Amino acid sequence: MGNLVYLNGELVEKENARISIFDHGVLYGDGVFEGIRAYNKKIFKLSEHIDRLYDSAKIIMLSIPLSKEEFKKAIIQVCKANGMEDGYIRPVVTRGVGYLGLSPWNCTEPSVFIITDSLQLYPVELYEKGMPVVTVPTRRNSNESLSPIIKSLNYLNNIMAKIEGKNAGVEEVIMLNNEGTVAECSGDNIFMVKKNKIFTPPVVAGALPGITMASVIELAIEAGYSVEEKYFSRAEMFIADEVFLTGTAAEIVPVVKIDGRTIGEGLPGKITRELTKKFKSYVDSHGTPIL
Ligand code: PMP
Repeated sequence: MGNLVYLNGELVEKENARISIFDHGVLYGDGVFEGIRAYNKKIFKLSEHIDRLYDSAKIIMLSIPLSKEEFKKAIIQVCKANGMEDGYIRPVVTRGVGYLGLSPWNCTEPSVFIITDSLQLYPVELYEKGMPVVTVPTRRNSNESLSPIIKSLNYLNNIMAKIEGKNAGVEEVIMLNNEGTVAECSGDNIFMVKKNKIFTPPVVAGALPGITMASVIELAIEAGYSVEEKYFSRAEMFIADEVFLTGTAAEIVPVVKIDGRTIGEGLPGKITRELTKKFKSYVDSHGTPIL
């Protein structure tokens, strides 16, 4: 992986890339980001990620100083400069440099940076044998506090959830919302299968509108399955036939144990495996070439 990042319009060496300690991204987590994946010199669903970045920014009234087309070009530029083939791309936009006060109006120019890196993946055996997960005490942000549809730099409750998962010895965790229904995971969306029907919580239950989630829904409908967005509880998950998670880095991960209960047969399920196979070829036809 190459050694350059995009920082406010320029390509700079990673070790020389600096932002101010007065940037409100640093002081207050005031900013938004994306996590994008490149497969075989193509950027998966670039436009969808850019749309989500601009949606996140719009909600927090952060005006990104580039057009969407310019942003896409900047991403392609840094990928190209780094000779990116397969990897991870992290665009970040912060409110920029201001004073110590909360007020965003003191920040004149947002900071924009784009990092490319290798992927942090779950261990392969979790895909083969399935992953055990637990539900954690930390709840997903409520819509009334910080909407989970904003991919903001405030990920502290997801980090708390991750710590709770680590303490329980698992790689990923299920987060509930304040009503106690299932929202999503610390960095992945969640699906369950019951009697050949596929369910996922609606975004309003506390989920990020995942790009992988949308791709999997599209593939499942194409394969003739019924997919329904529905609120469901922990107990309903325990008696599901299959549960799986989706995310940019994770792709599709089978879940075989939740809070000590074995899911289905305790192995990756039939529909999970079918969708995983379809997803592998789907990524080939949904990429923007790094040219
Ligand atoms: N939920 C959260 C909280 C996330 O941060 C992410 C992204 N890692 C996802 C779900 C999955 O979204 P995507 O498929 O777009 O990566």
